[in-house]
Amino acid sequence: MRQNGCRVCDACVAKGRLDGCWRYHRQPELLEQGPTEEPGAVGPASSVLSAKKGEAMLVVMKAHATEEQVREVCQKIEKLGYRPHAMPGAQRTAIGITGNKGEVEQGTIEEMPGVQEVIKVSKPYKLVSRDLKEDNTVIRFQNTEATIGGRGLAIVAGPCAIESREQAFAVAERVHRAGAQFFRGGAYKPRTSPYSFQGLGEEGLRIMAEIRQQYGMKIITEAIDNESLDLVEEYADVIQIGARNMQNFSLLKRAGRAKKPVLLKRGMSATLEEFLMAAEYILSEGNYNVALCERGVRTFADHTRNTLDLSLIPAVQRLSHLPIFVDPSHGTGKRNKVTPLSRAAVAVGADGLMVEVHNKPDEAMSDGPQSLFPDQFDELMAQVRQIAAVVGRTVPGIGVHEPVGVGK
Ligand code: PEP
Ligand code: MN
Repeated sequence: MRQNGCRVCDACVAKGRLDGCWRYHRQPELLEQGPTEEPGAVGPASSVLSAKKGEAMLVVMKAHATEEQVREVCQKIEKLGYRPHAMPGAQRTAIGITGNKGEVEQGTIEEMPGVQEVIKVSKPYKLVSRDLKEDNTVIRFQNTEATIGGRGLAIVAGPCAIESREQAFAVAERVHRAGAQFFRGGAYKPRTSPYSFQGLGEEGLRIMAEIRQQYGMKIITEAIDNESLDLVEEYADVIQIGARNMQNFSLLKRAGRAKKPVLLKRGMSATLEEFLMAAEYILSEGNYNVALCERGVRTFADHTRNTLDLSLIPAVQRLSHLPIFVDPSHGTGKRNKVTPLSRAAVAVGADGLMVEVHNKPDEAMSDGPQSLFPDQFDELMAQVRQIAAVVGRTVPGIGVHEPVGVGK
């Protein structure tokens, strides 16, 4: 329906609705009403920009707007005392405005060169929404073709916790050989019992940095508080925020100020909206490299540790541009269910998998029953490659890599 580089579909062209026809289709009642000149209405662009307290506005730039024009609009927004979030897309750039504490009254943005229209974002989540950015977010890393988001699946594998150098390297060697581009392992473990193994701390991070140097895999590890986040940010390539911290708002804000991408896991009783709002915290602080991860929710079912909610994947993808992983390990808690649900996750359209693998699961200090033996992970990868091909995805290798140096 869409014409080249233009959001206006044929039906709207025929009806003379040339002012952002996507709004008409999102709000079918407007299809009946047709264009209106009412100021501030969610209809055609009005010359007065108004928003209720806290309501985000969105500036849609013209397809051929220059970088200079985008910069000028951002400066204007800052001058008005708000925060601009420029999100370049394949067709055009959109600029989210947040931070408006009261009524915003300014028509000048719409008159600026390069601006197509200014609209209100009605959903509670704004920056994570496809309203702001239509194209999928793709997180890229130096020295590898592996991405999070995009056509290639991101495969994250490794033990629940880094227990020793020997254990971590034994697992890393095998998951690397099987094709994982990302290595996981907890150095800081959020445990139900204070008497359980809490992780090796910075020593665990050092071991993972050595693994990156040796194998080129990128490192994903969890930060459980602001203090560990400082260290994780220095050592890791991706900062994981775990299920138990999904609504730790000060930690989310800190992650939003980090310079590294963030993998945010779904809280064990979080709704889709709560999950997206948690991600919104991170983006609102300026970190747009965020990936989500479904890891199962608590239900009455007792044949698994959690109930893996695969229906969340298409639901997230419809509403948000952020990539979404599936963690079938915590999602089931049972080794024999990890491979079947990995196949299902890829089939349903997940952008990546996070899988726990241990060289000696029976001796694991945490999550042994859900950790795959390395041979089982080989088999999982073989099966996932087949399903990936069916749904038009690939599993890219980690590519050529330069040693990046051990440590920070
Ligand atoms: C983990 O991935 O190590 C973890 C603790 O998972 P979750 O936060 O999903 O329980
Ligand atoms: Mn675990």
